[in-house]
Amino acid sequence: MLITCAACGRRISNRQPICPHCQFDFRGSGEGLSLDRARGRVRRDIQTRWRNQSYLGMAVAILGAAAYYWQTGGLALRLDDPPLSLYVMAGGAVWYVFSRVAGVLSGRGS
Ligand SMILES: [Zn+2]
Repeated sequence: MLITCAACGRRISNRQPICPHCQFDFRGSGEGLSLDRARGRVRRDIQTRWRNQSYLGMAVAILGAAAYYWQTGGLALRLDDPPLSLYVMAGGAVWYVFSRVAGVLSGRGS
């Protein structure tokens, strides 16, 4: 039978003593993690994923800035006829900020 893990919310078999995703010991066998520790682990995993996303966004923004510099021969803003690289740079920056905020928010609460 499938049950929902109280710590990570995934569907798992109730035949296992420990959740394979977060190691929550839902039968109290003493082999896995307590609910608090398993939840903390899930939260850290989510934060790590968001942090990786923010690095990716930063890399895209830097690539966009480099392409923009190469295309326009400087970093002066050309908003009358913005090249594609300007959108790449802006998109990467938004991506970076969004994933930073999401990472901070996911670290809050229970
Ligand atoms: Zn779990």
